[in-house]
Amino acid sequence: MADSTALLKRNEVTQDIETMKALVFHAPNQIAMESRPIPKPSYGEAVIRVTLTTICGTDVHILKGEYPVRQGLIIGHEAVGVIHELGPDVVGYEVGDRVLVGAITPCGQCSSCLSGAWSQCGGVPIGGWKFGNTIDGAQAEYLLVPYAQANMAKIPDRLRDEQVVLLADIASTGFSAAESADLKLGDTVAVFAQGPIGLCATAGAKLKGAGLIIATESNPLRRKIALKMGADIVLDPRTGDIPSEIYRLTGGRGVDVAIEALGTQATFETALRSLRPGGTLSSLGVYAGKLDIPADAFAAGIGDYKIVTTLCPGGKERMRRLMELVLHKRVDLTPLLTHNFSLKEIVKAYALFSNQQDGVLKVAIRP
Ligand SMILES: [Zn+2]
Ligand SMILES: [Zn+2]
Repeated sequence: MADSTALLKRNEVTQDIETMKALVFHAPNQIAMESRPIPKPSYGEAVIRVTLTTICGTDVHILKGEYPVRQGLIIGHEAVGVIHELGPDVVGYEVGDRVLVGAITPCGQCSSCLSGAWSQCGGVPIGGWKFGNTIDGAQAEYLLVPYAQANMAKIPDRLRDEQVVLLADIASTGFSAAESADLKLGDTVAVFAQGPIGLCATAGAKLKGAGLIIATESNPLRRKIALKMGADIVLDPRTGDIPSEIYRLTGGRGVDVAIEALGTQATFETALRSLRPGGTLSSLGVYAGKLDIPADAFAAGIGDYKIVTTLCPGGKERMRRLMELVLHKRVDLTPLLTHNFSLKEIVKAYALFSNQQDGVLKVAIRP
């Protein structure tokens, strides 16, 4: 026992010198690469050495000051890595295991989790989104994973980091639109906007067995990738009235499921106006201010419409299931990783990503 005490003391000393590089948020439009101590796992926690991460649209909102986080926070919420250290009671894992960790890290014990609402772990207002929001995030060399046993999904040897990193957030979110809408085989679906999440929603509609899939997008590159991800038709919102065109394409019925993947009043309203009576609007967008529902787009309240929303499903079982889809070649998300940067170059990557330059969809960041 004396030896282990000595070891503990030594670890405490080395903790001060062992540092990592991390991207730190200071104030709107002020982020910087800095040295930080490598985190130490306590009970229920693990630390992974991040091998691949990415930048999310939400991180850009944080950078611009549109979503407030505390000064000094390490941001980022998508991580693939190798277990570096395990907390005392985390079992079933070994140091060196490759793992995927979802953007949302449910505890598995609170009333939300035990009611099956994993994403809403911990309750209002932002549920289980902790990384780069309430605790340090993934744009760093090392990441402390809370509730590690519920949140680290071992990656099958045959899968590369690049094949699974997008499952942590955008694919889990995008696919969930069709799941939350309870999409039926052969349903006609429209997906409004083909950014990274919209593209994954298109892929999810296909995976879930949609019949006709209509996407909307004005960016020519994204229009092309939408077809690759499963869209049959891509409409350009600049060149006509989308709901009329959707009614024409569906023989006057409207779509069974309309997926909103942008988070604006205009797309929400267009999605609602494109639905058949009794159809489902599945909303993935994050809205600001007030969202209006015009009575005429809502059949004055007697159209039997359903409106459902979903926050990215997380947890290791969700990640395991999504990796099954990749492993068995049901879906390939690698075309969405359009650019590569090292962690050192991440500020440059933010500039490219937030200005949507050079046809960027998602950037791969390698610590
Ligand atoms: Zn995200
Ligand atoms: Zn919980």
